[in-house]
Amino acid sequence: MTTVGFIGLGIMGGPMASNLLRAGFDVVGFDLAPAALDRLVADGGTVAGSVARAAEADVVITMLPNHPQVEAVALGEGGVLDSAKPGALYIDMSSIRPETSRRLAEVGAERGLRVLDAPVSGGEKGAIDGVLSIMVGGSAADFADAAPILAPLGKTIVHVGPAGAGQTVKAANQLVVGGTYALVAEAIVLLEASGLDAGLGLDVLAGGLAGSRILELKRKTMVAREFAPGFRIDLHHKDMGIILAAARDAGVALPVGNLVAALIASARAQGYGQLDHSALLKVAENLSGKGAAQ
Ligand code: NAD
Repeated sequence: MTTVGFIGLGIMGGPMASNLLRAGFDVVGFDLAPAALDRLVADGGTVAGSVARAAEADVVITMLPNHPQVEAVALGEGGVLDSAKPGALYIDMSSIRPETSRRLAEVGAERGLRVLDAPVSGGEKGAIDGVLSIMVGGSAADFADAAPILAPLGKTIVHVGPAGAGQTVKAANQLVVGGTYALVAEAIVLLEASGLDAGLGLDVLAGGLAGSRILELKRKTMVAREFAPGFRIDLHHKDMGIILAAARDAGVALPVGNLVAALIASARAQGYGQLDHSALLKVAENLSGKGAAQ
């Protein structure tokens, strides 16, 4: 049986670890939050007392908030790269800046490890249902070896290029997701301010060219102003930073992306950081003097 060490059992990592257990893998997990470890045990997993213990597995996965946590867990003393067995696969599935992914791959290779960056899209529901989109950077051979581990987690699993490429594709994904939320929010503000039923209006939009997965999954909760995360504004703010840095590196202008980044920064500044990113609706409402706070 292949043992998977899983570090970071939050909104995404928790259900992903459960799906690996259901697929027959032995999962040894680590997280700083005791509640996350309780869930793992309830699902049949084993708790590792430290990062180093979790990293002794055949395959190590991290699903952490951002690059400082990934760097601490992977590159720190007693971290994944220190502790993993030579030849082990290390798959970082967090959404982080591409340069950290490239560094993990370089340092990992020096230590005889095989490192992939494999960020995901599909949200909490995609993680629970095991239907995530997974964009993988690294070598083709390592991608092929990782396929049985990734299969229970996702539906669309694509090798998109060398180390770091998965992160750049994820940045493009977050650009589209953020922009779509911003526009759906404006559509709701417009419909309601015009005296119309926004729910009915969005039902029509969802079936036409404006249709999207966001309209499909989130229109009802947005109209009902239910903003429990999901994907937190704070994390999308982090992703907008990755997108704008990637644009600068690539020498391209992303005018709409910059505007979306400002709207998300505003959401955070207004205290909505812990809400779901669909709470961009509150920013759109406040800009028009329509919010509850007005
Ligand atoms: P989360 O905050 O729910 O989970 C992160 C987990 O990591 C927490 O349980 C936390 O306790 C743990 N953690 C933090 N530092 C740690 C450390 N040093 N050692 C061990 N555990 C530590 O976040 P999430 O929503 O699951 O997101 C994780 C990653 O996935 C992020 O990079 C995010 O951008 C990305 N992502 C999230 C979603 C989503 O819908 N939530 C979708 C796609 C991608």
